[in-house]
Amino acid sequence: MTHETRSTCCYCGVGCGVLIAHDQERITGVRGDPDHPANFGRLCTKGASLHLSARPESRLLHPQLRSRAQDGRRGAPRRVLWDEALDHTAQRFAEIVRAHGPDSVAFYLSGQLLTEDYYVFNKLAKALITTNNVDTNSRLCMSSAAAGYKLTLGVDAPPCSYEDMALADCLFIAGANPAVAHPILYRRIEDARAANPKLKVIVADPRRSETAAQADLHLALKPGTDIALYHGMLHVMIAEGLLDEAYIESHTEGFDALRKIVREYAPDTAAVLTGVPTADIVTAARWFAQAGAALSLYCQGLNQSTHGSHNNVALIHLHLATGQIGRAGAGPFSLTGQPNAMGGREVGGMAHLLPGHREVANPDHRAEIARFWGVPWLSPRPGLKAIDLFAGLKRGHVKAVWIACTNPAQSLPHQAEVRQALAAAELVVVQEAFADAETLRYADVILPASTWGEKEGTVTNSERRISRVRAAVPPAGEARADWAIACDFARRLGRELGLLAADALFDYPDPEAIFDEHRRSTEGRDLDIGGLSYATLERQGPQQWPYRVGASGGTARLYTDGRFETPSGRARFVPCRHQGTADRTDTAFPFALLSGRMRDQWHGMTRTGTVPRLFNQEAEALLRLHPADLRQIGLDEGGLARVANGRGSIIVRVKGDAGMRPGSAWLPMHWGERFMSSAGANVLTPASVDPISGQPELKHAAVRIEAA
Ligand code: SF4
Repeated sequence: MTHETRSTCCYCGVGCGVLIAHDQERITGVRGDPDHPANFGRLCTKGASLHLSARPESRLLHPQLRSRAQDGRRGAPRRVLWDEALDHTAQRFAEIVRAHGPDSVAFYLSGQLLTEDYYVFNKLAKALITTNNVDTNSRLCMSSAAAGYKLTLGVDAPPCSYEDMALADCLFIAGANPAVAHPILYRRIEDARAANPKLKVIVADPRRSETAAQADLHLALKPGTDIALYHGMLHVMIAEGLLDEAYIESHTEGFDALRKIVREYAPDTAAVLTGVPTADIVTAARWFAQAGAALSLYCQGLNQSTHGSHNNVALIHLHLATGQIGRAGAGPFSLTGQPNAMGGREVGGMAHLLPGHREVANPDHRAEIARFWGVPWLSPRPGLKAIDLFAGLKRGHVKAVWIACTNPAQSLPHQAEVRQALAAAELVVVQEAFADAETLRYADVILPASTWGEKEGTVTNSERRISRVRAAVPPAGEARADWAIACDFARRLGRELGLLAADALFDYPDPEAIFDEHRRSTEGRDLDIGGLSYATLERQGPQQWPYRVGASGGTARLYTDGRFETPSGRARFVPCRHQGTADRTDTAFPFALLSGRMRDQWHGMTRTGTVPRLFNQEAEALLRLHPADLRQIGLDEGGLARVANGRGSIIVRVKGDAGMRPGSAWLPMHWGERFMSSAGANVLTPASVDPISGQPELKHAAVRIEAA
């Protein structure tokens, strides 16, 4: 007999609802949930293939331990029972903490964990071990977007809703390619254009992406020149009297200082910096400012930059200066990459955060959460952000790392350094669902985790909407839920360290109990979900935060009253200037290599790589180059190129693409060692980070390209 279980897609931040067909043992099908407000029944190719990825053959099924040879090299893994795996890990963690202090251990988590998983890992590190060394692959994804919101609007809260796409008169899509990276949102854009032929769509992207090809205006800017473009547009708005002076006067602060900086960015100057024609900068500024409602949609093109926070800030300035925020169809709207990057930030699961959007650096916040958790204190020492965490591992400051639900041996930049760090670590614990993730090669302890279709909990999508994730079938093999593994380990570690409070701190019977604690931690904060429970989600379906005690529903739009979550209640203009990319092209490395996503693959392909039909779109990683560049290098379509810089080299097949800027190349981020002879794009990307957000510049590297 076939059953259907309502859940959420585990891939991207759109957060589509799914109905999982199963016989209570095996998943047999999937379809879009017609009642879910993110997708109303639609699914993209990845979501529609989810059931094909639910195969025990591709899974880790048992805990395993690896012993080390005298020279430190890891041997073959041997199967063990859960008790042995967790006791061994607790003993090793306790030895290292006792010998070197709490900051000698670290956790590296994932925007694909559920909110409940994230919550207990964060509590394990910060309340029990008293280290803030908890960071996640969300650092690679949305940390600059979060910083941009906080700098300008006061808190990390996307103010818009998906429904705004149908209510806008101008869509400004910057550093995003939703036609392939957020396909179900792109269907909304197509619907909006069909319903409103006057809707103007502007796309700012160095290459003529699938989204740019459909735009009314494509601004093909040089990589890394986003701030110059937005300042150029703001210059036009100022010069042509297109500002909303009343809004600036009543609801913002700091505009005069920014106005002085923007004088340096006349459209002709911005055109030289960005490579975008002056007339196009002027047109974009007019369309944006004169629209009844202008909505920006942006993603990794802005975030994965050494000035990603200021890229976000400069774009949000356009909204504040024109009053395009806090009303239907208008506002800055970051598109979340991962399915639960938002939820991870909500519970404070990053090196600089505490639950409820609180900050480690704030002594009042530390005291509030210490009281809430019932522990004496929380460490004020800043935790290590992702890139610094792996650098610390390589240098030996960090001795042990626990990696859950992510594959840093492919996804972090400058792979040679990352792999040296993992090889050098005293203890690497990898909690993972899939058997062939590259990071497993470096694991001393392998813990099999349950995954989509087997897990219970919640996720938050790009529009602040919290959805339930439900289990349809039992976990494969001996796999366990991520939250349950973390709690079991925490209790054992507590006994090793003589911290008997651990039993009570991690005494959760189920994920609902964790969610209840999490929601209480948010009360009185900007993301207050004090009024939201599993029962409410069951009754009312997915809801957008805030959802306060006594509310009858969630909140579609923020800042509708013109008040912001800053001390003055005003939004802030933040002085910032154009900066270049970390890698500069030169005669040795003359090409700008850009990385990006494809429609049918996800991240490092541990899941999508198990589904043959998802290779129909493209069977291998192809390096896209302008045909003139192919000719100049002496390569034919389909030929092999060596792409190299000081960090390493890879060999890939080339494809001519007239939509590429001459002098630049584009490579999908997904393919790694399981599918090609190298770790892929991240062999070449730099570990340089934004100084505010800590997000690395995964989008750009200077390279040499030659026939292989
Ligand atoms: Fe899943 Fe994203 Fe596709 Fe929706 S758009 S089905 S969330 S991958």
